[in-house]
Amino acid sequence: MHLVLLGAPGSGKGTYAVELKEYYGIPHISTGEIFRKEIASKSELGILANSYIEKGQLCPDDVTNEIVKKRLIEPDCVKGFILDGFPRTIPQAKFLDELLPIIGKRLEAVIDLEITDDEVIRRIVNRRSCPKCREGYNLITKKPLKDGLCDHCNEPLVQRDDDTEETVKKRLKVYYNETEPLIKYYTDSGFMLKINSEQPIDKVVKDIVIALEDR
Ligand code: ADP
Ligand code: ZN
Repeated sequence: MHLVLLGAPGSGKGTYAVELKEYYGIPHISTGEIFRKEIASKSELGILANSYIEKGQLCPDDVTNEIVKKRLIEPDCVKGFILDGFPRTIPQAKFLDELLPIIGKRLEAVIDLEITDDEVIRRIVNRRSCPKCREGYNLITKKPLKDGLCDHCNEPLVQRDDDTEETVKKRLKVYYNETEPLIKYYTDSGFMLKINSEQPIDKVVKDIVIALEDR
Protein backbone atom coordinates (compact mmCIF):
# COMPACT_ATOMS: atom_id res chain seq x y z
CA MET A 1 0.00 0.00 0.00
CA HIS A 2 1.58 3.26 -1.16
CA LEU A 3 -0.49 6.27 -0.20
CA VAL A 4 -0.27 10.03 -0.37
CA LEU A 5 -2.33 12.17 2.00
CA LEU A 6 -3.15 15.51 0.47
CA GLY A 7 -4.98 18.35 2.15
CA ALA A 8 -4.69 21.82 3.59
CA PRO A 9 -2.64 22.41 6.73
CA GLY A 10 -4.73 21.20 9.65
CA SER A 11 -6.87 18.93 7.48
CA GLY A 12 -5.84 16.00 9.71
CA LYS A 13 -3.20 14.30 7.57
CA GLY A 14 -0.98 13.48 10.54
CA THR A 15 -3.85 12.27 12.72
CA TYR A 16 -5.27 9.88 10.13
CA ALA A 17 -1.80 8.77 9.05
CA VAL A 18 -1.09 7.49 12.56
CA GLU A 19 -4.28 5.37 12.46
CA LEU A 20 -3.61 4.09 8.94
CA LYS A 21 -0.06 3.21 9.90
CA GLU A 22 -1.38 0.90 12.62
CA TYR A 23 -4.07 -0.55 10.38
CA TYR A 24 -1.86 -1.34 7.39
CA GLY A 25 1.45 -1.83 9.23
CA ILE A 26 3.36 0.55 6.99
CA PRO A 27 5.46 3.57 7.96
CA HIS A 28 4.08 7.09 8.23
CA ILE A 29 6.40 9.58 6.60
CA SER A 30 5.72 13.21 7.45
CA THR A 31 8.05 15.74 5.86
CA GLY A 32 6.88 18.33 8.42
CA GLU A 33 7.90 15.98 11.27
CA ILE A 34 11.27 15.30 9.64
CA PHE A 35 11.88 19.05 9.42
CA ARG A 36 10.77 19.61 13.03
CA LYS A 37 13.19 16.95 14.28
CA GLU A 38 16.01 18.59 12.33
CA ILE A 39 15.03 21.98 13.78
CA ALA A 40 15.03 20.54 17.31
CA SER A 41 18.52 19.10 16.82
CA LYS A 42 19.73 22.45 15.36
CA SER A 43 21.27 20.71 12.33
CA GLU A 44 22.24 22.66 9.24
CA LEU A 45 19.15 21.30 7.49
CA GLY A 46 17.02 22.29 10.48
CA ILE A 47 18.28 25.86 10.48
CA LEU A 48 17.60 26.14 6.76
CA ALA A 49 14.12 24.56 7.05
CA ASN A 50 13.18 26.78 9.97
CA SER A 51 13.91 29.93 7.99
CA TYR A 52 11.03 28.94 5.67
CA ILE A 53 8.70 27.23 8.13
CA GLU A 54 8.58 30.12 10.61
CA LYS A 55 7.34 32.36 7.79
CA GLY A 56 4.68 29.89 6.71
CA GLN A 57 6.54 29.17 3.47
CA LEU A 58 7.42 25.83 1.93
CA CYS A 59 10.96 24.49 2.11
CA PRO A 60 12.73 24.37 -1.27
CA ASP A 61 11.74 21.47 -3.54
CA ASP A 62 15.27 20.14 -4.04
CA VAL A 63 15.93 19.92 -0.30
CA THR A 64 12.56 18.28 0.38
CA ASN A 65 12.84 15.85 -2.54
CA GLU A 66 16.24 14.67 -1.36
CA ILE A 67 14.93 13.96 2.15
CA VAL A 68 12.00 11.94 0.80
CA LYS A 69 14.19 9.96 -1.56
CA LYS A 70 16.51 9.00 1.29
CA ARG A 71 13.55 8.00 3.48
CA LEU A 72 11.72 5.92 0.84
CA ILE A 73 14.67 3.66 0.21
CA GLU A 74 14.90 2.67 3.88
CA PRO A 75 14.08 -1.01 4.53
CA ASP A 76 10.83 -0.37 6.44
CA CYS A 77 9.26 0.96 3.23
CA VAL A 78 9.31 -2.45 1.49
CA LYS A 79 5.61 -3.09 2.17
CA GLY A 80 4.56 0.47 1.48
CA PHE A 81 4.29 3.91 3.04
CA ILE A 82 1.96 6.73 3.89
CA LEU A 83 3.29 10.07 2.70
CA ASP A 84 1.93 12.94 4.77
CA GLY A 85 2.72 16.41 3.50
CA PHE A 86 4.58 15.28 0.39
CA PRO A 87 4.23 16.06 -2.46
CA ARG A 88 3.14 19.62 -1.86
CA THR A 89 4.05 21.18 -5.21
CA ILE A 90 3.82 20.07 -8.85
CA PRO A 91 7.63 19.72 -9.14
CA GLN A 92 7.59 17.46 -6.04
CA ALA A 93 4.82 15.31 -7.58
CA LYS A 94 6.82 14.99 -10.80
CA PHE A 95 9.89 14.06 -8.80
CA LEU A 96 7.91 11.33 -7.02
CA ASP A 97 6.53 10.06 -10.34
CA GLU A 98 10.08 9.65 -11.60
CA LEU A 99 11.47 8.22 -8.38
CA LEU A 100 8.90 5.47 -7.70
CA PRO A 101 9.55 3.25 -10.74
CA ILE A 102 13.29 3.55 -10.12
CA ILE A 103 12.89 2.15 -6.60
CA GLY A 104 10.35 -0.45 -7.75
CA LYS A 105 7.21 1.11 -6.29
CA ARG A 106 4.00 2.68 -7.49
CA LEU A 107 1.22 4.72 -5.88
CA GLU A 108 -2.13 3.10 -5.14
CA ALA A 109 -4.02 6.22 -4.14
CA VAL A 110 -3.91 9.88 -3.27
CA ILE A 111 -6.37 10.85 -0.58
CA ASP A 112 -7.65 14.42 -0.63
CA LEU A 113 -8.91 15.50 2.78
CA GLU A 114 -11.58 18.12 2.15
CA ILE A 115 -12.06 20.87 4.70
CA THR A 116 -13.11 24.54 4.81
CA ASP A 117 -10.68 27.36 5.71
CA ASP A 118 -12.66 28.29 8.83
CA GLU A 119 -12.38 24.76 10.17
CA VAL A 120 -8.65 24.68 9.35
CA ILE A 121 -8.05 27.81 11.41
CA ARG A 122 -10.22 26.55 14.27
CA ARG A 123 -8.35 23.24 14.37
CA ILE A 124 -4.86 24.65 14.08
CA VAL A 125 -5.09 27.30 16.78
CA ASN A 126 -6.42 24.58 19.11
CA ARG A 127 -3.77 22.03 18.14
CA ARG A 128 -1.30 20.92 20.82
CA SER A 129 1.19 18.07 21.02
CA CYS A 130 3.37 16.22 23.50
CA PRO A 131 7.05 17.15 23.06
CA LYS A 132 8.05 13.74 24.48
CA CYS A 133 5.90 11.08 22.76
CA ARG A 134 4.61 13.40 19.97
CA GLU A 135 0.95 12.44 20.56
CA GLY A 136 -1.34 15.06 19.02
CA TYR A 137 -4.26 16.72 20.82
CA ASN A 138 -6.92 19.28 20.05
CA LEU A 139 -8.46 21.47 22.75
CA ILE A 140 -11.89 21.06 21.16
CA THR A 141 -12.00 17.67 19.43
CA LYS A 142 -9.34 15.59 21.22
CA LYS A 143 -8.84 17.02 24.69
CA PRO A 144 -6.20 15.56 27.01
CA LEU A 145 -7.65 13.87 30.12
CA LYS A 146 -5.84 16.37 32.35
CA ASP A 147 -5.74 20.02 31.27
CA GLY A 148 -2.57 20.80 29.32
CA LEU A 149 -0.86 17.47 30.04
CA CYS A 150 -0.13 14.42 27.87
CA ASP A 151 -2.31 11.37 28.67
CA HIS A 152 0.69 9.05 28.28
CA CYS A 153 3.62 10.94 29.80
CA ASN A 154 2.07 13.76 31.82
CA GLU A 155 4.34 16.19 29.96
CA PRO A 156 3.06 19.76 29.47
CA LEU A 157 1.64 20.00 25.93
CA VAL A 158 3.14 22.50 23.50
CA GLN A 159 1.91 24.43 20.49
CA ARG A 160 3.87 24.46 17.23
CA ASP A 161 5.53 27.83 16.54
CA ASP A 162 3.89 27.93 13.10
CA ASP A 163 0.39 27.27 14.50
CA THR A 164 -0.53 30.89 15.16
CA GLU A 165 -3.54 32.35 13.33
CA GLU A 166 -1.28 34.74 11.40
CA THR A 167 1.03 31.98 10.11
CA VAL A 168 -1.89 29.63 9.39
CA LYS A 169 -3.42 32.23 7.08
CA LYS A 170 -0.11 32.45 5.21
CA ARG A 171 0.11 28.64 5.05
CA LEU A 172 -3.40 28.49 3.60
CA LYS A 173 -2.42 30.95 0.86
CA VAL A 174 0.62 28.84 0.06
CA TYR A 175 -1.61 25.76 0.02
CA TYR A 176 -3.98 27.28 -2.57
CA ASN A 177 -1.12 28.51 -4.76
CA GLU A 178 1.26 25.57 -4.59
CA THR A 179 -0.55 22.44 -3.39
CA GLU A 180 -4.13 22.67 -4.61
CA PRO A 181 -3.03 22.23 -8.27
CA LEU A 182 -2.07 18.68 -7.24
CA ILE A 183 -5.76 17.80 -6.96
CA LYS A 184 -6.15 18.22 -10.70
CA TYR A 185 -2.79 16.58 -11.33
CA TYR A 186 -3.77 13.40 -9.47
CA THR A 187 -7.40 13.44 -10.63
CA ASP A 188 -6.16 13.42 -14.21
CA SER A 189 -3.92 10.44 -13.48
CA GLY A 190 -6.80 8.55 -11.82
CA PHE A 191 -5.35 8.26 -8.31
CA MET A 192 -7.68 10.57 -6.45
CA LEU A 193 -9.98 9.61 -3.58
CA LYS A 194 -11.91 12.48 -1.97
CA ILE A 195 -12.75 12.22 1.71
CA ASN A 196 -14.77 14.61 3.87
CA SER A 197 -12.39 15.57 6.68
CA GLU A 198 -14.99 17.49 8.68
CA GLN A 199 -16.20 14.40 10.53
CA PRO A 200 -15.05 12.66 13.72
CA ILE A 201 -11.58 11.08 13.42
CA ASP A 202 -12.88 7.46 13.51
CA LYS A 203 -15.40 8.15 10.77
CA VAL A 204 -12.80 9.75 8.49
CA VAL A 205 -10.41 6.80 8.96
CA LYS A 206 -13.25 4.39 8.23
CA ASP A 207 -14.16 6.33 5.06
CA ILE A 208 -10.54 6.18 3.92
CA VAL A 209 -10.29 2.41 4.49
CA ILE A 210 -13.60 1.77 2.69
CA ALA A 211 -12.56 3.96 -0.24
CA LEU A 212 -9.24 2.10 -0.49
CA GLU A 213 -10.96 -1.29 -0.37
CA ASP A 214 -13.45 -0.24 -3.07
CA ARG A 215 -10.47 0.47 -5.29
P1 ADP B 1 0.73 21.19 8.07
O1 ADP B 1 0.24 20.14 7.13
O2 ADP B 1 -0.13 21.38 9.26
O3 ADP B 1 1.05 22.49 7.37
P2 ADP B 1 3.33 19.88 8.25
O4 ADP B 1 3.85 19.35 9.52
O5 ADP B 1 2.97 18.93 7.18
O6 ADP B 1 2.10 20.75 8.70
O7 ADP B 1 4.36 20.93 7.64
C1 ADP B 1 4.90 21.99 8.39
C2 ADP B 1 5.78 22.87 7.50
O8 ADP B 1 6.90 22.11 7.01
C3 ADP B 1 5.10 23.41 6.24
O9 ADP B 1 4.39 24.61 6.48
C4 ADP B 1 6.32 23.64 5.31
O10 ADP B 1 6.99 24.83 5.61
C5 ADP B 1 7.25 22.49 5.67
N1 ADP B 1 7.00 21.34 4.76
C6 ADP B 1 6.41 20.16 5.09
N2 ADP B 1 6.31 19.35 4.01
C7 ADP B 1 6.84 20.06 2.96
C8 ADP B 1 7.02 19.81 1.58
N3 ADP B 1 6.63 18.66 1.00
N4 ADP B 1 7.62 20.75 0.81
C9 ADP B 1 8.03 21.90 1.35
N5 ADP B 1 7.87 22.22 2.64
C10 ADP B 1 7.29 21.32 3.45
ZN1 ZN C 1 3.37 12.19 25.67
